Amino acid sequence: MKILVVEDELKLAEYLRKGLNSEGFVVDLAHDGLEGLHLALECDYDAIVLDRMLPGLDGMAMLSALRSKKTTPVLMLTAVGSVEDRVAGLKSGADDYLVKPFAFSELVARLQVITRRGTATADQTTQTGKLRLSDLEVDLVRRRASRGGQALVLTAKEFTLLTLLLRRQGEVLSRAVLADQVWDMNFDSGTNVVEVAIRRLRTKLDVPFEHSLLHTERGMGYVLEDRSTL
Ligand code: CA
Repeated sequence: MKILVVEDELKLAEYLRKGLNSEGFVVDLAHDGLEGLHLALECDYDAIVLDRMLPGLDGMAMLSALRSKKTTPVLMLTAVGSVEDRVAGLKSGADDYLVKPFAFSELVARLQVITRRGTATADQTTQTGKLRLSDLEVDLVRRRASRGGQALVLTAKEFTLLTLLLRRQGEVLSRAVLADQVWDMNFDSGTNVVEVAIRRLRTKLDVPFEHSLLHTERGMGYVLEDRSTL
């Protein structure tokens, strides 16, 4: 799932980006309302986390401009928590409202709810916080992965990489996207960190099993997909 975070407090924005990445979300950041509106209109996001108080164009104004064009689910963040404020936010088209400071797990739970409420997405998260593909299962709550009932012993980065591929199963993800989202690195730096991690993940995820789930699309990237029935 792809999320746009519009937040002018740089530390909070970065914290949200890292946290959401580790939950397997792909994240774009905008630091003011105009940039946020531009990205929200140009790209297709599964949800937008929108701060209410923003420079340039505030959260409410950005939301009403967005709502005249698109129905992307919006979770609004605010330091102001009065009932009137909450009603105003929901009336202006926010799908949900979260008062700062909030627990990160609460943000993730709300995002899952508003994205499920929207049109069907590729996200396969069930009520129990599990992602599945064929005999592969990832438990997001316990941060465990297994295949055919057999536990996969993964490093934190491998777990994040697998979760990201699994959330976007069937979609080819480029090395640049993976480097950015999993390692927070610019792919131009000539690193082979993605290839190395993919190779390690493959030896755990695919090698011991009859059919492979992780495929390389030459020159394009990697895709997690069950091709055994194709
Ligand atoms: Ca703000």
